[in-house]
Amino acid sequence: MDIHNVVIIGSGCAGHTAALYSARANLKPLVIEGHEPGGQLSLTTLVENFPGFPEGVQGPELIENMRKQATRFGAHYRIGQVTKADLHKHPFELTVGNDVIHARTVIIASGASARWLGLPNEQALIGHGVSSCATCDGFFFTGKEIAVIGGGDSAMEEAIFLTRFATKVTLIHRRDHFRASKIMLDRARSNPKIAFLPDTVVDDVLDVSKNEVTALRLRNVKTGESWDFPTSAMFLGIGHIPNTKIFGNQIETDADGYLITHKNVLTKVPGVFACGDVQDRRYRQAITAAGSGCMAAYEAEKFLEEEGH
Ligand code: NAP
Repeated sequence: MDIHNVVIIGSGCAGHTAALYSARANLKPLVIEGHEPGGQLSLTTLVENFPGFPEGVQGPELIENMRKQATRFGAHYRIGQVTKADLHKHPFELTVGNDVIHARTVIIASGASARWLGLPNEQALIGHGVSSCATCDGFFFTGKEIAVIGGGDSAMEEAIFLTRFATKVTLIHRRDHFRASKIMLDRARSNPKIAFLPDTVVDDVLDVSKNEVTALRLRNVKTGESWDFPTSAMFLGIGHIPNTKIFGNQIETDADGYLITHKNVLTKVPGVFACGDVQDRRYRQAITAAGSGCMAAYEAEKFLEEEGH
């Protein structure tokens, strides 16, 4: 039986960093790339807060460089998703496609995926005007009006980015208080193409019969007034849900599904470590994800050493 020293689930910032450190420790890590290879950085544009890049760096370029760096030291990447994880057995068993992969240690870096609103017609219109990725789909709405939902940094970033294409971007938020950082909020507010619509929720998106977004059914939460707001697209920037389903109750999670870790990256299962957005609901930055990926690799190495490998 082929047993890997380290299998890393996920190929975002945390996964690549864990791969780099464990590769440099000569552990020949295997990275299972997951359903969104590269993670959230691969869906973003200019990253201005990753130290070392005074002029900023494009997210996809940054993540690709991390991968190249880990590969150079012997990390292996496999396209695919882990569909089942048995962490009771040792070595651990991970199912990827038709294969079962055995691992002495597992580093979970499966990240978090975009949250949807759960509207009646939302799923049917994904790819037809409903999107959670401005950098992927913004171009299709050149010369049109776009709505962005959310009040955090992601929503601000999406709105600002989408002004490159749209004639007007309306930022719709359920409160009149924004959790976005001041710098991002100020940038959005000072952009003449962005209009703010606070205290407003989306009750549905129209029009499935035309197979495209034509309007949003909006409601003011203070007055109760409801109306149809014409728009060509709805981009969501309402946060993320941690990708922890496959672990079931083998690893402790909090009420929202984030993995609970102690001493930064240790789970309650010896030999299983978690890093990045799947276990971090507070900082959620590329740099903190990278930092925790380093910690997970370090702990995996210590664990293997203590086990005599
Ligand atoms: P976030 O900070 O959690 O914000 C999510 C936003 O969506 C909140 O305004 C929230 O409203 C709203 N929301 C959530 N569920 C909703 C629902 N069902 N209906 C309507 N609105 C809903 O998430 P984020 O903006 O993705 O940011 C995550 C982290 O990444 C943050 O730490 C952020 O600083 C960071 N980030 C940084 C940058 C940057 O610096 N350039 C860019 C992107 C993200 P409430 O406020 O009412 O809860």
